[in-house]
Amino acid sequence: MKQLAQEISARFSELGVEIPIGEIEERLDKMINKFKVPREEARRSVVNYFLKSYNIKRNEFYIGQSESPLINISDVDDGKWANIRGKIVQLWDNTHESISQVGLIGDETGTIKFTIWESAGVSSVEEGKSYLLKNVVVNEWNGKFQLNVNKSSSIETLDEEIEVGNATVEFNGAMVDIQSGSGLIKRCPECNRALTKGACMEHGKVDGVYDLRIKAVMDDGNSIQDAILKRDLVEEITGMTLESAITLAADALDQGVVLEKMKDLLVGRYYSVKGSRVDRYLIVESISPIFAYDLSELDELIAAAEVV
Ligand SMILES: [Zn+2]
Repeated sequence: MKQLAQEISARFSELGVEIPIGEIEERLDKMINKFKVPREEARRSVVNYFLKSYNIKRNEFYIGQSESPLINISDVDDGKWANIRGKIVQLWDNTHESISQVGLIGDETGTIKFTIWESAGVSSVEEGKSYLLKNVVVNEWNGKFQLNVNKSSSIETLDEEIEVGNATVEFNGAMVDIQSGSGLIKRCPECNRALTKGACMEHGKVDGVYDLRIKAVMDDGNSIQDAILKRDLVEEITGMTLESAITLAADALDQGVVLEKMKDLLVGRYYSVKGSRVDRYLIVESISPIFAYDLSELDELIAAAEVV
């Protein structure tokens, strides 16, 4: 920390301002050791404090200083400053007034959450467009890295298409809905597309092949994630096989009963899903229940225990 304080002091000295090293060190110590602010962020913050105190422009201080390196999303690290080139994969509903936008940005190596703080004063980004985020700081939250676009950052629009890579991601939350097009469905035997009202959009009326699929809506309290489960995972998590689903539908003379049954089994429960993100969907590769009861279930459990 002494070395960091010396560096800061030396740079101010070049600009003709002498700040006692002890004063810098004290501020750094408070941020790093007391408030657990990452080292680089603490440095910026302390520098900003003295820039303000001595009325020095930020540009003047950083001129000739090395710029943040351009790095891949898979290589970001806690507390580091970086330039990130990527495509906006998703924008999420933002509930905090100090946040301008929040969402997911991706490059060839994967995706990462980003937050554009209101105080950054940058123009807003659009889903599906590519940008260069300059001077953003990485931090870790709940074991995941995220990017912060703050008042030291800037955003440039890029006129290029970025292919977003399929890094494995994990999402933990409640399944809050299962969308139509789920349950027992029929697929086109030619192209495997799901049929709508017995017809393929490419091949018209065809004799479809039965399959199981779930298009789930997951909610972790911060964001919503659409997730797609294929047949093997649907069978695993519902305990319902394709054959039993066909029988159930045949008995009821209604394919819709399978979807209703799945909703009864899964909606309102907590799951951990892992898979790859494709556009707005998480293509699930594994799913496991998270042990969590809501209060109504707890009452039932207590009642059941009393009967025994
Ligand atoms: Zn087809």
